[in-house]
Amino acid sequence: MARIAVIGAGIIGSSITAVLRREGHAVTCFDPRGPGQAASFGNGGSIAPGSIAGTSGPGILGDAIRWSLAGDGPLRLHWPRLPVAAPWLRRFARAGRPAGLQGTAAALHQLHRSALTDYAQLLGPGRADLLRTSGQLYVYDSDKAYEKDAPGRALRRDHGVRMTELTADEALEMEPSLRPGLARALHLPDFGQTPNPGALVRAIAEDAVRDGARLVTTCIHKLLPVPGGRGMGLLSDHGEEVFDTVVVAAGIWSNRLLKPLGAAVPLESLRGYHATLELPRMPGQPIYPIAEKIMATPMEDGLRVVGVVEVAGTRKPPEFSNIDRLTGAARRIFRDVGEARSVWMGHRPATPDSVPVICRAPGHPDLVLALGHGQTGMCGAPGTANLVSDLLAGRQGRIEPHHFDIARFR
Ligand SMILES: Cc1cc2nc3c(=O)[nH]c(=O)nc-3n(C[C@H](O)[C@H](O)[C@H](O)COP(=O)(O)OP(=O)(O)OC[C@H]3O[C@@H](n4cnc5c(N)ncnc54)[C@H](O)[C@@H]3O)c2cc1C
Repeated sequence: MARIAVIGAGIIGSSITAVLRREGHAVTCFDPRGPGQAASFGNGGSIAPGSIAGTSGPGILGDAIRWSLAGDGPLRLHWPRLPVAAPWLRRFARAGRPAGLQGTAAALHQLHRSALTDYAQLLGPGRADLLRTSGQLYVYDSDKAYEKDAPGRALRRDHGVRMTELTADEALEMEPSLRPGLARALHLPDFGQTPNPGALVRAIAEDAVRDGARLVTTCIHKLLPVPGGRGMGLLSDHGEEVFDTVVVAAGIWSNRLLKPLGAAVPLESLRGYHATLELPRMPGQPIYPIAEKIMATPMEDGLRVVGVVEVAGTRKPPEFSNIDRLTGAARRIFRDVGEARSVWMGHRPATPDSVPVICRAPGHPDLVLALGHGQTGMCGAPGTANLVSDLLAGRQGRIEPHHFDIARFR
């Protein structure tokens, strides 16, 4: 049994805490805000084993510049952020080339493919209400949009993702809350969702605590390598404490701890927004209108529409005008959309190639990195927790670790 500290109680840190505790380790998880309060709170709740396409794509920077100048579009650059973000953006553009996209898909396929069954195990039968294998419906407003999505479909087909083509009438029959006027749709029966991401994270963390993990509501200020010895120290408001292994899963804030050790990861906040809307008749599954680049998920408290990718750092206040883009898109797709019940902005902790970094930190064997899940952390959390536990046990598990090593950026 090792003494392990996990920094961060988002979906990544909470899942790692739960899995390591089940392996019999003495685990302490630190977070000043408690479980599931940051990106893991307000996301779209999509849990899609076949979500393997990265955020980048061919010509992405040209598109982003055009959209930013027009003040519209799904990906926006905030100009004052560019000097800091430039090296990350260069790598991001490279990840959008064909070889980069294939590499990303191969890695995410490994990490996501058993997400729903892994969550079912993590949650147990008592909280089955937090997981739905509902399928997902991708809808296309024109044949042109369908053609444009051909590379995405080919990528999914190559990785064995089941998809059924639907006519517009079949899609409307499946989801009567949609407006008429679609061109066609694609049903992905093995995809799913949670109806409450924050509650899902809390349930996993609370279960780990019942199982014997310690959850400490405090911020870790500094990592303190043990001079000449094994283990890693932590400095918090409660003082210093030394652990056999420390796992950093602090989302977009991870580099504040890693930089002083020379272990920083190329990480940029891809800020995103949600609006939770009233809808008299909910869809039975997440709806992804491909051309609008939003996701609309039926949640416990309404229809949650998520979208917008903003490169603007962590300090700039939210641009809530983006909510108009989300509600406008929702009104074009669904009938009878009502008022927004809540609006929110959060930070997707993104690596340039959309593949998280899950490995031991170079030069610090007792420090493990588990961060950078970008747009798909809900899909990647159980796989990440299993990979971390395999790394610590020195086991080769179901996931090949080399995809997630920081060495690819060095
Ligand atoms: C609009 C939007 C929609 C999304 N939709 C989806 C989706 O549908 N499906 C999907 O798979 N993914 C989605 N994502 C992505 C997903 O939400 C993230 O990838 C995931 O939540 C990241 O989890 P995390 O645990 O790494 O980070 P976070 O949830 O941000 O958690 C990090 C935690 O670390 C803590 N922390 C930070 N610094 C310290 C410190 N020094 N000491 C202690 N604790 C610290 C923070 O308080 C925080 O609680 C979406 C994201 C956004 C923004």
